[in-house]
Amino acid sequence: MVKLGETEEGGEALMLGLMQDFPLTVDKILDHAARWHGDREIISRSVEGPIVRTNWRTIHGRAKQVTHALQTLGVRLGDRVGTLAWNTANHIEVWYGIMGMGAVCHTLNPRLHPDQILWIADHAGDKIIFTDLTFAPMLLANLHKAPSVEKVVILSDEAHRPEGAGENVIMYETLIAGLPTDAVWGGFSELTACGLCYTSGTTGDPKGVLYSHRSNFLHTLITLQTDVIGLSQRDSVLVVVPMFHANAWGLAFSAPAVGAKLVLPGPRMDGAAIHELMTCEKVTLSAAVPTVWQMLLQHLDAAGETITGLKRVVIGGSAVPEAIVRSFKARFGVDVVHAWGMTETSPLGTIAAMTADLEELPFDDQIPYRLKQGRPPVGVDIRLLDDEGKTLPHDGATFGRLMVKGPIVVKSYFKGKADVIDQEGYFDTGDVATIDQAGFMQITDRAKDVIKSGGEWISSIEIENIAAGHPKAELAAVIGLPHPKWDERPLLLVKLKAGQTATKQDLLSFLEGKIAKWWTPDDVLFVDDIPLGATGKIDKKLLRARHGDHKLPTL
Ligand code: ADP
Repeated sequence: MVKLGETEEGGEALMLGLMQDFPLTVDKILDHAARWHGDREIISRSVEGPIVRTNWRTIHGRAKQVTHALQTLGVRLGDRVGTLAWNTANHIEVWYGIMGMGAVCHTLNPRLHPDQILWIADHAGDKIIFTDLTFAPMLLANLHKAPSVEKVVILSDEAHRPEGAGENVIMYETLIAGLPTDAVWGGFSELTACGLCYTSGTTGDPKGVLYSHRSNFLHTLITLQTDVIGLSQRDSVLVVVPMFHANAWGLAFSAPAVGAKLVLPGPRMDGAAIHELMTCEKVTLSAAVPTVWQMLLQHLDAAGETITGLKRVVIGGSAVPEAIVRSFKARFGVDVVHAWGMTETSPLGTIAAMTADLEELPFDDQIPYRLKQGRPPVGVDIRLLDDEGKTLPHDGATFGRLMVKGPIVVKSYFKGKADVIDQEGYFDTGDVATIDQAGFMQITDRAKDVIKSGGEWISSIEIENIAAGHPKAELAAVIGLPHPKWDERPLLLVKLKAGQTATKQDLLSFLEGKIAKWWTPDDVLFVDDIPLGATGKIDKKLLRARHGDHKLPTL
């Protein structure tokens, strides 16, 4: 590549364009929202209980107050500031207050074990942590495990100050009270670090992904395309996906970028609470992992309620079950949009938007494509490689390692020793996938969860999705168990809905004809619990520990 100020060998000097140098920094997104969509509302279910209403103009002013407060506390460019908080307007203010001044907003995942949270805060070198009342007791009791943390700011007022809290604890409303609402933002390179998010550690030690202003700004523009999430100013967006889970899939940037109305569920993500917000705030678009939607559908069934006004739900994080796609369409006329991504891809990597050809098909014929993880938007490139590094065909059948490349994809981890991309700039996602002739990628497994049987691969995800569609099943998981003849064979674990009974044969008959015969699980176990990890995905590591010594009847 020819660099600035260099001359191509034997050629002309590089000619630069003559457009403005306008660094793509995310403070400009909130400036824009305040200036052009100032009255558009942000509604939060507060941690204290009541629903709180504010708007982009007010959030902008308070975010600037946060910047002043941080500067007074000694935070400088590049310092890490943690947040351990639900999705609320306060959390948005803190995000922009940190990022706008060029410090790094580090979202901590409260669903992790306290030791892990504090380990991550210390590894990141967080100076200050902003937290909700919910997590304050845990954080304060464990603070000695993260020596880097000097102060804790609790996102509430003096009336809620925890008893016995020391001098290192500041209440948020006191911290920002009376400070100017016009701090200076920006003025640094768009390559400046902006956000830090650790992967949930399902594949080993947590690793820090350090987003830049540029990568977040570009991710915002990418997700705003019609065929991606395609937000509009007219949308009312319910952000169930947590801000601590890969940037809430970018919605905390894309909503202000277009001036959408933002609806934030705070600490309550149960079916009834979600449904109440959806109805009262006329929500048109929402985003969450599949388990949230399963909970909502169960609540609607039990309460005999319905949904109106909702147009689209974006589902990702794990594969969307067919029953959810069909239920939303048939019962409420809602389009489910299936997306794939990871912390390392900011997070959006692919999306299953219908193409012109597929749009012509009846809904039933679209289903196989709607269940795939979809196609990459401009700015993201994907490909499949075999173990020798050979590129694999897009035939919808050949499994390979999914590789991804682009300006919103990680290059190396925070404090990592080396780059994590190959010579051509692709990052190995750790996912195993196929790509069909229409360009739709389908995740068949995590590389470490794939079941190797007789030299071939069995997709645990595909079996569990079909099994979860059994009318009596609430959740299903498939793990591979060692087998002397075949190497590994699948074991199906099923958690039944409350009050239901079923037999092994019921489940196996349900799978018959839907999967290859040799994929049929060797055994079915009915369990009380299928554990979910900190990002809402089935915790296969724990399942293997619990059921790894189960004796298969085929042994
Ligand atoms: P972690 O890697 O720590 O589990 P992430 O939230 O970054 O946390 O998870 C990314 C992974 O989640 C992907 O690599 C993939 O395995 C899985 N995933 C994300 N979206 C989907 C989806 N739509 N279908 C199947 N798997 C998905």
